[in-house]
Amino acid sequence: MKCKKCHKKNRKIANYCRYCGNPFTKKEQEEANKKGIVAKIRKIEKWYEVCTLKVITENIFVRILILILILLPGILSLLKNGSHLKIMDTKDYEITYNEKKEEYYIYLEEKEKVSLKLYVPNKIKKLELDYYGEDNKRIDKQSLTTKDEIMIEANKTKDNYYVIYSLDNKKEKLKIYAYVGGE
Ligand SMILES: [Zn+2]
Repeated sequence: MKCKKCHKKNRKIANYCRYCGNPFTKKEQEEANKKGIVAKIRKIEKWYEVCTLKVITENIFVRILILILILLPGILSLLKNGSHLKIMDTKDYEITYNEKKEEYYIYLEEKEKVSLKLYVPNKIKKLELDYYGEDNKRIDKQSLTTKDEIMIEANKTKDNYYVIYSLDNKKEKLKIYAYVGGE
């Protein structure tokens, strides 16, 4: 509240002006108190206005944030899966993937041998293609660059499978069973 004598601002609970010592009347104190409450209510009202849904959803930063939140799962899965070695679709075969066993099943259509199309992340430069038989014994081994054609043949027995892995990063590994037809 303002002092009538020196016009300086004092706290609402003051009994005397801290600058000139002029005493405040009870009426002055009550009025100052009322003004304070009104000011507080106005402040709350203003905040309420700012916080209404319309204002929030019209805010460009909030809109961008919402957009990011919507796109986030896609971005994350792209970061997680996009940079890994994987088999791409072609018209020559169909792929199914068993997530639990981490095995690919490739169904060749008619042809017994096809060229495998791979997605190879930039950091991978060298690949190895191994062929396994009974008792998980390795029968064949081929070193490949990312430009080489990777030929896959339909497996002759249920024990046969291929493993393609990155020589740069051993964690990048594909286990493949190849079959002819829809079996
Ligand atoms: Zn004063």
